[in-house]
Amino acid sequence: MNEQELQMLVEELSITYFSQAFLHKATFNSRLKTTGGRYHLSSHNLDFNPRILEIYGRDELVGVIKHELCHYHLHLQGSGYRHQDQAFKTLLVKTGGSRYVADLRTKDEMGTYCHYKCQSCNQAFSRKRKINITKYRCGKCHGKLKQIEK
Ligand SMILES: [Zn+2]
Ligand SMILES: [Zn+2]
Repeated sequence: MNEQELQMLVEELSITYFSQAFLHKATFNSRLKTTGGRYHLSSHNLDFNPRILEIYGRDELVGVIKHELCHYHLHLQGSGYRHQDQAFKTLLVKTGGSRYVADLRTKDEMGTYCHYKCQSCNQAFSRKRKINITKYRCGKCHGKLKQIEK
Protein backbone atom coordinates (compact mmCIF):
# COMPACT_ATOMS: atom_id res chain seq x y z
CA MET A 1 0.00 0.00 0.00
CA ASN A 2 1.47 3.36 -0.96
CA GLU A 3 0.58 6.72 0.57
CA GLN A 4 -1.96 7.56 -2.10
CA GLU A 5 -3.80 4.32 -1.35
CA LEU A 6 -3.60 5.06 2.36
CA GLN A 7 -5.07 8.52 1.78
CA MET A 8 -7.90 7.01 -0.27
CA LEU A 9 -8.59 4.36 2.37
CA VAL A 10 -8.80 6.99 5.13
CA GLU A 11 -11.14 9.14 3.02
CA GLU A 12 -13.32 6.15 2.24
CA LEU A 13 -13.55 5.01 5.88
CA SER A 14 -14.31 8.56 6.96
CA ILE A 15 -17.31 8.78 4.63
CA THR A 16 -18.54 5.25 5.33
CA TYR A 17 -18.28 5.24 9.12
CA PHE A 18 -18.37 8.91 10.10
CA SER A 19 -20.50 10.31 7.25
CA GLN A 20 -18.01 13.13 7.02
CA ALA A 21 -15.13 13.86 4.70
CA PHE A 22 -11.52 13.58 5.75
CA LEU A 23 -9.99 16.80 4.44
CA HIS A 24 -6.41 16.50 5.59
CA LYS A 25 -3.43 14.34 4.87
CA ALA A 26 -2.74 10.75 5.88
CA THR A 27 0.81 9.47 5.60
CA PHE A 28 2.94 6.56 6.67
CA ASN A 29 5.56 7.38 9.26
CA SER A 30 8.17 4.72 9.82
CA ARG A 31 9.64 6.66 12.75
CA LEU A 32 6.65 5.71 14.86
CA LYS A 33 7.83 2.85 17.01
CA THR A 34 5.19 1.51 19.34
CA THR A 35 2.27 3.71 18.31
CA GLY A 36 0.05 2.61 15.45
CA GLY A 37 -1.15 6.03 14.45
CA ARG A 38 -1.15 9.65 15.47
CA TYR A 39 -3.49 12.57 15.11
CA HIS A 40 -1.79 15.95 14.99
CA LEU A 41 -3.85 18.52 16.84
CA SER A 42 -2.24 21.46 15.06
CA SER A 43 -2.19 20.29 11.45
CA HIS A 44 -5.10 17.81 11.68
CA ASN A 45 -3.04 15.34 9.69
CA LEU A 46 -2.81 11.66 10.53
CA ASP A 47 0.18 9.43 10.32
CA PHE A 48 0.34 5.69 10.57
CA ASN A 49 2.95 3.14 11.41
CA PRO A 50 3.65 1.02 8.29
CA ARG A 51 4.40 -1.90 10.64
CA ILE A 52 0.69 -2.37 11.32
CA LEU A 53 0.32 -3.59 7.76
CA GLU A 54 3.51 -5.59 7.82
CA ILE A 55 2.82 -7.33 11.12
CA TYR A 56 -0.98 -7.48 11.38
CA GLY A 57 -2.40 -6.76 7.94
CA ARG A 58 -5.10 -4.58 6.49
CA ASP A 59 -7.92 -5.29 8.98
CA GLU A 60 -5.81 -4.03 11.86
CA LEU A 61 -4.85 -0.93 9.88
CA VAL A 62 -8.55 -0.21 9.28
CA GLY A 63 -9.16 -0.42 13.04
CA VAL A 64 -6.31 2.00 13.74
CA ILE A 65 -7.51 4.42 11.05
CA LYS A 66 -10.98 4.45 12.61
CA HIS A 67 -9.42 5.13 16.01
CA GLU A 68 -7.48 8.12 14.66
CA LEU A 69 -10.53 9.34 12.76
CA CYS A 70 -12.43 9.40 16.07
CA HIS A 71 -9.80 11.82 17.43
CA TYR A 72 -9.93 13.78 14.18
CA HIS A 73 -13.67 14.29 13.81
CA LEU A 74 -14.36 14.88 17.51
CA HIS A 75 -11.54 17.41 17.76
CA LEU A 76 -12.75 19.32 14.72
CA GLN A 77 -16.30 19.30 16.12
CA GLY A 78 -15.10 20.59 19.45
CA SER A 79 -16.20 17.42 21.26
CA GLY A 80 -14.26 15.32 23.72
CA TYR A 81 -11.57 13.83 21.52
CA ARG A 82 -9.27 12.39 24.20
CA HIS A 83 -9.19 8.71 25.16
CA GLN A 84 -10.83 9.36 28.52
CA ASP A 85 -13.70 11.42 27.07
CA GLN A 86 -17.11 9.78 26.90
CA ALA A 87 -17.72 11.13 23.38
CA PHE A 88 -14.53 9.43 22.22
CA LYS A 89 -15.39 6.12 23.86
CA THR A 90 -18.91 6.13 22.38
CA LEU A 91 -17.77 6.99 18.86
CA LEU A 92 -15.00 4.40 18.99
CA VAL A 93 -17.48 1.65 19.84
CA LYS A 94 -19.95 2.87 17.23
CA THR A 95 -17.42 2.87 14.41
CA GLY A 96 -15.56 -0.25 15.49
CA GLY A 97 -12.17 1.38 15.91
CA SER A 98 -9.31 -0.32 17.70
CA ARG A 99 -9.26 0.31 21.42
CA TYR A 100 -5.52 -0.04 21.58
CA VAL A 101 -2.89 -1.00 19.09
CA ALA A 102 -1.25 -4.37 19.40
CA ASP A 103 2.43 -4.43 20.17
CA LEU A 104 4.32 -3.14 17.17
CA ARG A 105 7.82 -3.74 18.38
CA THR A 106 9.90 -6.12 16.35
CA LYS A 107 11.33 -9.22 18.00
CA ASP A 108 14.67 -7.46 18.33
CA GLU A 109 13.18 -4.51 20.18
CA MET A 110 11.27 -6.77 22.53
CA GLY A 111 14.56 -8.32 23.49
CA THR A 112 13.83 -11.95 22.90
CA TYR A 113 16.28 -13.82 25.05
CA CYS A 114 17.84 -17.18 24.53
CA HIS A 115 18.08 -19.27 27.65
CA TYR A 116 20.86 -21.68 28.48
CA LYS A 117 21.68 -23.96 31.31
CA CYS A 118 24.92 -25.54 32.37
CA GLN A 119 24.69 -29.32 32.19
CA SER A 120 27.12 -29.78 35.07
CA CYS A 121 26.18 -27.18 37.70
CA ASN A 122 22.71 -26.19 36.44
CA GLN A 123 23.62 -22.51 36.34
CA ALA A 124 21.10 -20.68 34.10
CA PHE A 125 22.04 -17.98 31.59
CA SER A 126 20.11 -15.65 29.34
CA ARG A 127 21.66 -13.98 26.38
CA LYS A 128 20.14 -11.53 23.94
CA ARG A 129 21.72 -13.36 21.06
CA LYS A 130 22.13 -16.98 20.25
CA ILE A 131 25.48 -18.25 21.38
CA ASN A 132 27.47 -21.13 19.97
CA ILE A 133 27.15 -23.77 22.69
CA THR A 134 29.91 -25.90 21.23
CA LYS A 135 32.28 -22.98 21.73
CA TYR A 136 31.07 -21.35 24.93
CA ARG A 137 31.25 -23.03 28.30
CA CYS A 138 29.73 -22.29 31.69
CA GLY A 139 31.41 -19.31 33.34
CA LYS A 140 31.30 -20.96 36.75
CA CYS A 141 32.45 -24.51 36.16
CA HIS A 142 33.35 -24.69 32.47
CA GLY A 143 30.66 -27.29 31.95
CA LYS A 144 28.78 -27.78 28.72
CA LEU A 145 25.80 -25.52 28.04
CA LYS A 146 22.41 -26.56 26.81
CA GLN A 147 19.77 -24.31 25.28
CA ILE A 148 16.44 -24.46 27.07
CA GLU A 149 12.98 -23.23 26.12
CA LYS A 150 11.19 -20.84 28.41
ZN1 LIG B 1 -5.73 7.51 20.31
ZN1 LIG C 1 28.44 -24.87 35.25
